Amino acid sequence: MTTRNIGFVGLGNMGAPMAINLAKAGHKVAGFDTADITAEGVHMVASAAEAAQDADVVISMLPNGDILRKVASEVLPAMQPGALFLDCSTVDVESARAVAEKATARGLLFVDAPVSGGIGGAAGGTLTFMAGGTAEGFEKARPLFDIMGQKAVHCGDAGAGQAAKICNNMILGATMIATCEAFALADKLGLDRQKMFDVVSTSSGYSWSMNAYCPAPGVGPESPADNDYLPGFAAELMLKDLGLSQQAAEAVDADTPMGALAQALYAQFVQQEDGRGKDFSAMLPRFAGRGRQT
Ligand code: NAD
Repeated sequence: MTTRNIGFVGLGNMGAPMAINLAKAGHKVAGFDTADITAEGVHMVASAAEAAQDADVVISMLPNGDILRKVASEVLPAMQPGALFLDCSTVDVESARAVAEKATARGLLFVDAPVSGGIGGAAGGTLTFMAGGTAEGFEKARPLFDIMGQKAVHCGDAGAGQAAKICNNMILGATMIATCEAFALADKLGLDRQKMFDVVSTSSGYSWSMNAYCPAPGVGPESPADNDYLPGFAAELMLKDLGLSQQAAEAVDADTPMGALAQALYAQFVQQEDGRGKDFSAMLPRFAGRGRQT
């Protein structure tokens, strides 16, 4: 393996374990975060530009597109020609494409590569990456994907990774709601939750939400429902991703009524009810505690 100099910007819940895995694999990792963070094997530096200056690859794992654009404005001028900027955050497609354009204009490579797999996947090195960018950029990132994840799909040009991520999560938000409201209906029809799982998980209503992340405590594989709905994947992060898919749908004039309704329900849950800080599967107790709305 070629040892690489890696700059890592944004070492939060996801970024820190990803950076640690790269350091463990033998790469030299210079990290920067605005919060006071330490990560095993990562040399923390004083600015994003400092993390970028000697790097073959700069990786970012940041909260949103505005922050990505700001970090890019500091990082890109500091990078060496031919180096790769690999953004693994979940952001809007337009921000990913705007940063790609700026990077290309400077003779740099850019790949957007949001992830699926959550904090467990980040720690275990089993993330799935959905990547957008040139073949050259993707090939340069591939050995790092292999360390941080179990799968990387090259989805297309810049922004295609973000497009795949928000489409996937729009399906996830809608299927989780559908699964939860069906459990709540089954309760009121006197159907045992275990029986409901046994049938649906092997029938045409099955989905990842039901089979791999069952929202009913004590039923199906272990999931946040078994841990008092502690995230997991927080309802507010699902709301963020549903907002990104609606923003994208607006931009390209796509009709996405289920996605829009899922966004409205998660907004209500997070902003007006008690959903903040809970896993996104906590929609089940929410529906179970309600009657029919007129
Ligand atoms: P987090 O809030 O824990 O981490 C973000 C980090 O970025 C923080 O440590 C913050 O201090 C740092 N930061 C903010 N502004 C900065 C700046 N200007 N310069 C340097 N550092 C800065 O969030 P997270 O859970 O690690 O998520 C990161 C990204 O991954 C998000 O886009 C999220 O949507 C996505 N994601 C998260 C999960 C998950 O399960 N947590 C799963 C898939 C994707």
